[in-house]
Amino acid sequence: MKYYSIADPSHVVSFEQAVMNGQAPGRSLYFPAAIPVFTPSWWLDFHKKNAHELAYDVMQPFVGEEIPEQILREIVQTTIDFPIPLKQLSDKLFIVELFHGPTLAFKDVGARFMSRCLSYFRRNSDKPITVLVATSGDTGGAVAHGFSGVPGVEVVIFYPKGKVSPFQEHQLLTTASNVRAYAVEGSFDDCQQMVKAAFADQQLQQQKVMTSANSINIARWLPQQLYYFLAMQQWQYQDAPVISVPSGNFGNIAAGILAHQRGLPVEHFIAACNSNDTVPRYLEDGVYQANQTIPTISNAMDVSDPSNFIRILSLLSRKDIPLAQILSAKSYSDELTRETIIQINDEHQYLVDPHTAVGIAAAKDYQLAKQEAKSIVLATAHPIKFSTVLNELPGIMINDTSDETILNRIVIPASEEGWKQVLYT
Ligand SMILES: *Cc1c(COP(=O)(O)O)cnc(C)c1O
Repeated sequence: MKYYSIADPSHVVSFEQAVMNGQAPGRSLYFPAAIPVFTPSWWLDFHKKNAHELAYDVMQPFVGEEIPEQILREIVQTTIDFPIPLKQLSDKLFIVELFHGPTLAFKDVGARFMSRCLSYFRRNSDKPITVLVATSGDTGGAVAHGFSGVPGVEVVIFYPKGKVSPFQEHQLLTTASNVRAYAVEGSFDDCQQMVKAAFADQQLQQQKVMTSANSINIARWLPQQLYYFLAMQQWQYQDAPVISVPSGNFGNIAAGILAHQRGLPVEHFIAACNSNDTVPRYLEDGVYQANQTIPTISNAMDVSDPSNFIRILSLLSRKDIPLAQILSAKSYSDELTRETIIQINDEHQYLVDPHTAVGIAAAKDYQLAKQEAKSIVLATAHPIKFSTVLNELPGIMINDTSDETILNRIVIPASEEGWKQVLYT
């Protein structure tokens, strides 16, 4: 499969180049040159396939001949070596739990797939590749674990000191020796600036082979299709479901729409957003206007200018499908999110994290208008990751046992001196 840059379709690269580059030139995104669809005979066997066969079939066309069959089979097997169950809460409401991976959020899937692809592409080099990441919490953990112990890859993570939860800091620090995480005396923006400065440093570029594990990398984006297929394998109804996706940077939902274009039966997608409502407003009035980012309790969705939204537009423009037919989007306040958590806990004795709660609120709203619709909500994180928010709610108690005292934290200044001390070795 070839990949082109959305900003400049004449810029075409291989799967390997797209993975190694991460971003296309001029901050653009890579996009597959074709949408591979499945044949009717493949669908006849769909329910009989085991998870690993299915995962291989979903990913293979995007990788092509660039990774040998046996190795790609191993990559997808180790990517999803945890269950992805579909649970029923009521006759109309289903949840697919994406949080059974090592860092308890869906980002494990993309991070694990990407790390293994990188390791394969670096197999003949004696120099390790350095993956540099700035994180506000969730991404760093998934990347740290996804790359932990992966040969030929070294990971350096910058996170803002005191601004990630104890649970998240544990995930960053308790990993293998090829992963180093540093607490920066500053904000998440400082961390991002340091990463950018390091990438712009000519001398460092000559010393090290460096890449980023940014969420727009196709090796993180494409494997997110997997759980849509795995959820539909467990779907036992004639009618296709509506799928509600808690959305921030819109990578997850864009992968769902890609899966749908390959033939997966889905009635409609709902992008469930928090107060960062650029896309809901755009669908309403056709004006794309990103406002200042608003901090919320579903903080992994605090994105006001979602990078992957353009991938959805690219997918639809190919088939000439009007956006409103396949996608609706709605925004929910923190107050409504909290109410939804309490309500779902009371009615179903099922505790959800704030991101998943936004998804449920949107699915319920949609059902008010379309009563016959059955919906699947993507549960994007385990509630324990957000125990601080949940324990403030009446009637809810969730025990986060992660130890507050972390002994191996390394603190660096938010400056050139900070990243140079870490990266020049
Ligand atoms: C990253 C994240 C999201 C948002 O996913 P996008 O692909 O950026 O839309 C939602 N929920 C959780 C828990 C996340 O970590």
